[in-house]
Amino acid sequence: MRNIVAIVGRPNVGKSTLFNRLTESRNAIVKETSGVTRDRHYGVAEWNGIEFSVIDTGGYVVGSDDIFEEEIRKQVIVAIEEANAIIFVVDVVTGITDLDTDVADILRRTKKKVMVVCNKVDNTERQLQSAEFYSLGLGEVFNVSAINGSGTGEMLDSLVEGLDKELKSEDEETELPRFAIVGKPNVGKSSLINALVGKDRSIVTPISGTTRDSINTRYNAFGFDFILVDTAGIRKKAKVHEDIEFYSVLRSVRTIENSDVCIFMIDATEGIQKQDLNIFYVIEKNHKGVVVLVNKWDLVENKESNTTKEYEDLIREQLAPYKDVPIIFTSTITKQRIHKALEEAVRVFENRKRKIPTSKLNDLMLDIINNNPPPAYKGKYVKIKFVSQLPTHAPAFAFFCNLPQYVKEPYKRYLENQLRKHYDFSGVPVRIFMRKK
Ligand code: GDP
Ligand code: GDP
Repeated sequence: MRNIVAIVGRPNVGKSTLFNRLTESRNAIVKETSGVTRDRHYGVAEWNGIEFSVIDTGGYVVGSDDIFEEEIRKQVIVAIEEANAIIFVVDVVTGITDLDTDVADILRRTKKKVMVVCNKVDNTERQLQSAEFYSLGLGEVFNVSAINGSGTGEMLDSLVEGLDKELKSEDEETELPRFAIVGKPNVGKSSLINALVGKDRSIVTPISGTTRDSINTRYNAFGFDFILVDTAGIRKKAKVHEDIEFYSVLRSVRTIENSDVCIFMIDATEGIQKQDLNIFYVIEKNHKGVVVLVNKWDLVENKESNTTKEYEDLIREQLAPYKDVPIIFTSTITKQRIHKALEEAVRVFENRKRKIPTSKLNDLMLDIINNNPPPAYKGKYVKIKFVSQLPTHAPAFAFFCNLPQYVKEPYKRYLENQLRKHYDFSGVPVRIFMRKK
């Protein structure tokens, strides 16, 4: 389990620039399967061998200027409650503003790691100006220039030192699948849990030793046996902060990171919206398995089979390119297909663990590659000689070849699709890497 670092501060101080700087180096190494454009407010950073999740709150402020100040205050409160460390970004060019002072007042009340990061210190002259931020009473002020990167090393050294080293994966000893039920507020997450558990509390048992960050229960009934990550208890608190989008994303990050497979719920009457996609992005980014539940299907009037088909196609289009996912139309009220949803989650869990023997993999893929080799690039031919599955939690394949950099995204997509055609990877992201042989 990773620490979560939240970046807070007023608009235009450079939060998203800093976010990009912290998360981009890693993106370059672990290149994403595709060039999907989801909102990038969540990412994973690494410093001195320590990985942590970063959330930029800036992306979640909605509304006009007069309400953003209140929004920002709420976000800071949520960040204090939920994140492990907070980066408070201020701007040397504007100096201290009233809102900075307000935010500092809130931040002084927490025992969590808070860092004042003074941004836009692009030159030595500005270094002197930043001294005024000591008056915020939050200790050391770290001068950085998010644009050119200066100062970020010292800042990261201190940040990583302050992170909780004790955080480790929960229930490491268990082999049971870990399912998380995620989705934006009001899609029916609590209702689903109630429908599954009903009055019969004996089918769920709390897992001892789980941290304050999640309440996990073991679900053991109707032939299913799995761990439900983050259950009803937390929901109560969630309702308090429901209007803060940042809160639901933050909560989802925790549960998603702790799960193997996410039961991702959307509201059938609304379809997939921006907030749904942001949560889906976190699932994707963490290479988790996913089952999509189109819930409240009882409210959709015209349910002929072609309506379902059209609905399904539309969802796949919106989730593209990660679209080989099970989509189930459910109702927690009529209990329609809720066990089906669990069956699919189990199947996805198995798919995610699937290991293809190297010889079989090579027989299959080298044949396919011979029949349809990568297109020549700059007059050069790429020869793929060997394929192997990497020993990762989620399926990833390395294709060894002479000129890895010449294999472009469409061909990688082709290889992925071929793998999906021959093996069941439904609901599981498949990563393709080209490696130098
Ligand atoms: P956010 O609203 O806090 O996320 O701020 P942005 O990251 O969008 O940055 C706001 C503006 O400040 C943009 O025009 C950035 O290019 C600029 N900016 C960000 N970081 C720096 C920096 O280190 N130095 C300078 N000079 N400008 C910066
Ligand atoms: P959560 O915020 O995701 O936990 O959502 P809740 O489980 O609290 O549900 C939000 C609202 O949607 C409640 O009023 C539920 O009764 C309603 N709801 C949940 N599932 C369904 C469903 O399948 N059909 C219908 N018609 N309403 C539902």
